Amino acid sequence: MPDKEPFRLFRVRGLRNRWMLGSMAVLLVLTLVAVSAYGVAIGSYYYSSVRTGLETKASSSSAFFSNYVNRTYAEYYQSAYRFTALFDERDKLDLQFISSSGRIEVSTYGLTAGTMPGTEDISAALETKKISSFMGRDPSTGERIVAVSSPLVYGDGRVMGIIRYVSSLRLVDRQVVSRVLIAVGIAAGLLLVMFLTNLVFIRSIVTPIGEVTAMTRRIADGGYGSQIQNKYKDEMGEMVSAINDLSIQISHSEKVKTEFISSVSHELRTPLTAITGWTETLSYDESLDEDTRKKGLAIVLEEARRLTNMVEELLVFTRIEDGRFTVSIEKLDIEAELEEACFTCRELIKQEGIKLEYTPPEEPMPLIPGDPERLKQVILNILDNASKHGGSGKRIVVTLHLEENYQASGKDFVCIRVRDFGPGIPPDELGNVKLKFYRGSSKARGSGIGLAVCDEIVRLHNGILDIGNAPEGGCVVSVFLPTGPLPQ
Ligand code: ADP
Repeated sequence: MPDKEPFRLFRVRGLRNRWMLGSMAVLLVLTLVAVSAYGVAIGSYYYSSVRTGLETKASSSSAFFSNYVNRTYAEYYQSAYRFTALFDERDKLDLQFISSSGRIEVSTYGLTAGTMPGTEDISAALETKKISSFMGRDPSTGERIVAVSSPLVYGDGRVMGIIRYVSSLRLVDRQVVSRVLIAVGIAAGLLLVMFLTNLVFIRSIVTPIGEVTAMTRRIADGGYGSQIQNKYKDEMGEMVSAINDLSIQISHSEKVKTEFISSVSHELRTPLTAITGWTETLSYDESLDEDTRKKGLAIVLEEARRLTNMVEELLVFTRIEDGRFTVSIEKLDIEAELEEACFTCRELIKQEGIKLEYTPPEEPMPLIPGDPERLKQVILNILDNASKHGGSGKRIVVTLHLEENYQASGKDFVCIRVRDFGPGIPPDELGNVKLKFYRGSSKARGSGIGLAVCDEIVRLHNGILDIGNAPEGGCVVSVFLPTGPLPQ
């Protein structure tokens, strides 16, 4: 898109470049500021100490000169001449005596005598009668100098002349520049060290990220279960172990999905084979007697019912999974529902030699709020499990009773209890049987979603699904349903 083009100019690609630019730019600016501040401070320190030195000298010389020497201009001139001749710092400084007109009368650097320096310090000293200084280029030589002029003032206020000290700034300039260069060198060294440590640091992040990304891509491309070698102890290590866990989880759920599809296909195929086989026989075999024909039709009906239940269970399960599952509550006669479910089931399992015993409750049962279809599904599922997994006991006992103030909760529940006399559920599997896709060690067919669906339905009724084993053996499943109104 052309309108986005300008932003691309400023986009810095890659973590490494962004980090470097971010941290190094800040460091560079800070270093520049620090070095400049140091330069300014060191310069002003050096220049002001040179000037102060000259000012001290000029003020003590002018005091000495005014008190003892000067009487007339000729005397001034002569004593200036002597003073200059005795001046012992001539190799470093130039001492000048200047007339009130601004002309150099006597100078340790003989060549300047007779010239007019014309710098501000002289004019200011003459005007203000105070020590004045100048720092800058000498108008005649162009050399950088510092000059301090101290006026010689008589008692009547007249300015006799000026004592002026002049020093070249060449040495001081050189010193200031060399100090600043040393500071720049140290700063550049520090920046280099920072740059290198930053480089090492960012590499320690970018390289593992690259490895982890490549590995994650492999996992995303189907290498579920692949593990990234975790060589890191820090946050990177935590991220790698989180991705490794994720990879195992994905591979686990992939396995569960495959197993689920295969067990569901198997579950669907078994009744379909029976239905196809019997309908073919019933259609084409003219020699069948009435009894066999009836038996065949009963089997077709039973298997079709089993298929319907299974498909219903799968539908409910998918609705639960995507959050669309709801119950439609009405006042319900749970005793009648249970009796009907027991009747249906009793007929079905009679052929397998399993006896279903239902004992009606002694006290009258209250109507409870519930979804009749869903609750029937729960009861049939539990009865189906009892015959499937616990059918070897050849006996299933169903009871219904009222639990007043259940576990001191202050609430009344009706309790449907289904007990079989089979092997029961191994204790280590008990905690998992309500999990979706969980199939225990039982050899009977199943998809592993029955109890998960039951649990969800009971939960939506604010009830409790309790699964355990009877002390004398066999599985006991209890469904507790509240008698009070459901919260809206
Ligand atoms: P499935 O479709 O396998 O029956 P469920 O969710 O209904 O799935 O049950 C989960 C597991 O619980 C079963 O695979 C079985 O191992 C165990 N189970 C359930 N009911 C019984 C029972 N009455 N007796 C023994 N084991 C049972």
